[in-house]
Amino acid sequence: MKKIAILGSTGSIGTQTLEVARNNGDLEIVSLAAGSNIERLEAQIREFRPKTAAVWSEEKARALRAAVQDLDVRIVSGMEGLIEVCTASEAEIVVTAIVGMIGIVPTIAAMKAGKDIALANKETLVTAGHIIIPLAEETGVKILPVDSEHSAIFQCLNGENRKELKKILLTASGGPFRGRKREELVDIQVEDALKHPNWAMGRKITIDSSTLVNKGLEMMEARWLFGVEPKDIQIVVQPKSIIHSMVEFVDGAVIAQLGTPDMKLPIQYALYYPERRYLPGERLDFETLTQITFEKPDMETFTGLKLAFDAAAAGGSMPTVYNAANEKAVALFLDRKIGWLEIPEIIGKSMEAHKVIPNPTVDEILETEKAVYEFIESRW
Ligand code: NDP
Repeated sequence: MKKIAILGSTGSIGTQTLEVARNNGDLEIVSLAAGSNIERLEAQIREFRPKTAAVWSEEKARALRAAVQDLDVRIVSGMEGLIEVCTASEAEIVVTAIVGMIGIVPTIAAMKAGKDIALANKETLVTAGHIIIPLAEETGVKILPVDSEHSAIFQCLNGENRKELKKILLTASGGPFRGRKREELVDIQVEDALKHPNWAMGRKITIDSSTLVNKGLEMMEARWLFGVEPKDIQIVVQPKSIIHSMVEFVDGAVIAQLGTPDMKLPIQYALYYPERRYLPGERLDFETLTQITFEKPDMETFTGLKLAFDAAAAGGSMPTVYNAANEKAVALFLDRKIGWLEIPEIIGKSMEAHKVIPNPTVDEILETEKAVYEFIESRW
């Protein structure tokens, strides 16, 4: 039985990870952590019987403790609780399916405790890639990508010499507003932006897909995960999300990974790597699939993607500013306080106002996040 811990078990990636565990029957869930959904967490505790479970607030932890008092499970809370979930348990691999920069500290703690990381949390590498990648080398832990694009690249590079990699072709669906120009995007409502053409995901990442900020974050993650410069990452719009990404080698050969859009594939691949397991579900049918089309991304309309390349070029603390400003702007948009076009505008203004800190420490990253939040709160 492989022992796993899940940070963010009640979310989209978290519940699909548990589905993979349910389907396979040989993954032992030793600890779980969630933000506030204690009803769902209780159901997960009853089904998977972890030894430890964490919720963010102590108040919710007390309510959960009372609800599961008939079971042998320790309920913890706060950052200490998150760290306990990924370090104190006998987990071999930690799935970081938590949303936000709150994922950085527990991920570092898990790595220092020698746990492999099945990485979904985007913010970890975007903001702290310069800390995480050297730490993985130092501790010898594996970072196994869960995001479908990074998993695809990882699969394409399997058995290859990384030095022969020429560039990464990171595919994007283009989101629900692909093909539209700025003037057609003025009145976008929350409901429109939450309709992703191919993937069912959490709310924040779905909005990020509509602005192409998600692709910008993925580009920044890819640079750290695969050791390439941003200029060697090309974004390729492939609207049906059939090709999950590609790599080009020095000899011109291009290798792609294809499949139906199902996050359980990359999740399962990360959990069992290097083994492949049967996964129930639809398969690609090349008799009905008559074409796969490609487009160049429109960075003049979707300025959030261009800003990601600017943030990556500036380096240091700038990717943190990009990420934090986006997080705050998306929350404001979901609360209907700003328009959809204001999301990249807020990111751009936050970046302009920031003085880059080279090689920021974790504390400096978290302080930068706070400063960006305050900057935005004082203006919008
Ligand atoms: P969701 O919003 O669906 O889930 C987020 C999870 O994080 C929930 O379990 C939530 O708990 C938990 N959480 C939030 N705050 C805290 C906290 N303070 N302490 C403990 N747990 C907390 O997000 P997704 O599953 O969509 O995404 C998770 C991460 O994976 C993100 O970084 C995203 O970018 C990345 N990702 C997601 C993909 C997808 O297909 N969904 C694809 C690739 C990457 P609760 O609900 O109980 O509050």
